Amino acid sequence: MSAMNIATMNIATKELDKHYDLVIMGGGLAGLTLALQVRQRNPDLSILVLERRPQAAPEAAHKVGESTVELGMYYLSDVLSLRDYLEEVHLQKQGLRYFFTPQHELELANRVEFGAKNNLPIHSYQLDRGRLENDLVQHISALRVTTLLGASVKKVNIVDDGLHQVSFVEKGKLQSVSGRWVVDATGRGSLLKRHLGFEKSLDHNINAVWFRLRGEVDVDDWSEQTSWKEKVKPGFRRLATVHLMGQGYWVWLIPLGTGSTSVGIVADPRYHDINTYNSFEKALEWMADHEPIAAKQLALRHDDLMDFRMLKHYAHDCGRFFSHKRWGVTGDAGAFLDPLYSPGTDFIAFSNTFLTDLILRDHSQEQIDERVFLYEQTYIELFQRWLTLYQDKYTLFGNTQITVAKILWDTANYWAVPVPMFCNGVYTNQDLIQVLFATPDCIGKKFSRLNEQVQAFFLGWYELDNGDSYSLQRMFIEPLSLTYLYNLHVEMEHQYSEPVLIEKLAENLRILEEIAAALFALVFNRFKGTPIDMPIDPYTMSIAQSKQELLAAANGQGSFVARDVIAKEVGQMWFYTVADAGHKKQDSHSQTNDQPHVNSYEAESV
Ligand SMILES: Cc1cc2nc3c(=O)[nH]c(=O)nc-3n(C[C@H](O)[C@H](O)[C@H](O)COP(=O)(O)OP(=O)(O)OC[C@H]3O[C@@H](n4cnc5c(N)ncnc54)[C@H](O)[C@@H]3O)c2cc1C
Repeated sequence: MSAMNIATMNIATKELDKHYDLVIMGGGLAGLTLALQVRQRNPDLSILVLERRPQAAPEAAHKVGESTVELGMYYLSDVLSLRDYLEEVHLQKQGLRYFFTPQHELELANRVEFGAKNNLPIHSYQLDRGRLENDLVQHISALRVTTLLGASVKKVNIVDDGLHQVSFVEKGKLQSVSGRWVVDATGRGSLLKRHLGFEKSLDHNINAVWFRLRGEVDVDDWSEQTSWKEKVKPGFRRLATVHLMGQGYWVWLIPLGTGSTSVGIVADPRYHDINTYNSFEKALEWMADHEPIAAKQLALRHDDLMDFRMLKHYAHDCGRFFSHKRWGVTGDAGAFLDPLYSPGTDFIAFSNTFLTDLILRDHSQEQIDERVFLYEQTYIELFQRWLTLYQDKYTLFGNTQITVAKILWDTANYWAVPVPMFCNGVYTNQDLIQVLFATPDCIGKKFSRLNEQVQAFFLGWYELDNGDSYSLQRMFIEPLSLTYLYNLHVEMEHQYSEPVLIEKLAENLRILEEIAAALFALVFNRFKGTPIDMPIDPYTMSIAQSKQELLAAANGQGSFVARDVIAKEVGQMWFYTVADAGHKKQDSHSQTNDQPHVNSYEAESV
């Protein structure tokens, strides 16, 4: 697949057949990539994509979903073999970059910055969604997927034992086709979900606005301080997804391969009323209060404004995802969580991979009932596990210490288990899923329990920590300078044999347990007065426990002390001054140091 000239875009207008093996309703990212994935696995299936948009999508000002992370990137570049195309047309993304400590709002160089200094060993892409969808339409059409633009689906009739009927209007004419399989990829239209009554609300109420600006926006230009600029390769900050973090919100800056820049505000209404930022002018006023440097810089770009969009309460869930009656939902038509960490494409990768597997097995006359059940449960479990990363967590974003710990945890968690599992085809390997998820103490269940425990821990920590015990500035946190994170990063796409993969996942889970134990030990030490070297059971200990309860639990069978190598690296991201922490023994770098503290601790007998 190579870049297409939109002006020459010409979708086949041949007569439609009356019947298709697969009818995909909606030709956005989810629908188009599903068509491609199924087609690549089986060139014989007849596939029809019905897309409401009547003409080529505009470049830049089209949709959100521009930033990808590793799992979704692996899906696009390796599973769908689009790597060369992505390299040619879209931008290499250099990770996620965060600016914390909004109290230094008047000088970006004074904020705590978190991000890469140099090229990441594994990079993902920043996508121009309009360009991508146009190119995908061309690509699948060349692979004999019938793609009809300007076709608005009106009705689906699910027939349990026969062919489903899909009615749509194209050029004012009502038409109908039948499909052995029907997949809803209509995004927030959620046609099938509404039709079958599977709507499900989600207790995660966050709002977003976004706009695109013509031309580049480079945060390197937002400060005059040469020493700060020189910390990172020139032009490199811009290639990341930049996040400006403050209590209850984050602001994104995403560069697009077609030369424009996407900007968004995502905020919890408990802290920021959407009516205070729901137009470009109001968004600038809101930024003037919370992110004044951004406000000043973006106001200069008023004439470059291409669009302005908003979405209230974007998170939503779905009661069912796949059925043995040969229907399914994918992408936003099913469920959506939150754009922080860009998981949208990851979830498209999951649902499309499950659906492709089911469709192809059904095509080769295999019984799919058991797999449908297994895949749906796995998808629901993934969604619920991911939800804990976001639910109630916008509260934390003004507390730099907790948010840094959380981002490091969330990143390690993601690279340690779900990414290697996806890259090694685990999710459609029934035997491996059984091994990894079926028993109470299996890796998958422990991984979920541990994450739930740590996510609850962050909220409990926040209750105890008013965040004013340290005053950080000019700190640069390079996450891949942490060995545990670097190793997880470079290994996440490795291909393993099944037994080695199971060992690897167990080893990664052990690393996560140690990170959790080391972090708990620091926090308990500071807020509960327990010894810094106290053994920790990260699966059972909770910040709600008293000092006595924690000390008693430290003698439990599951308690252990994290290895020095991990404890030391977790300690590097601990920002409290020595004077604040009763048990730390050394090293009080000034708070204006450019490097994080490296503290070490001495034991206190229990
Ligand atoms: C604020 C915000 C920021 C986000 N940022 C990111 C990010 O950085 N990275 C990321 O990975 N994800 C991100 N996401 C999520 C991402 O936008 C979605 O996961 C992704 O766009 C979903 O793609 P889709 O194909 O399911 O839906 P869509 O892209 O909406 O496609 C649905 C298609 O169906 C068509 N359609 C609708 N109704 C009908 C009908 N009746 N008949 C025929 N066609 C129809 C529409 O025209 C459309 O083209 C973000 C989401 C939000 C809310």
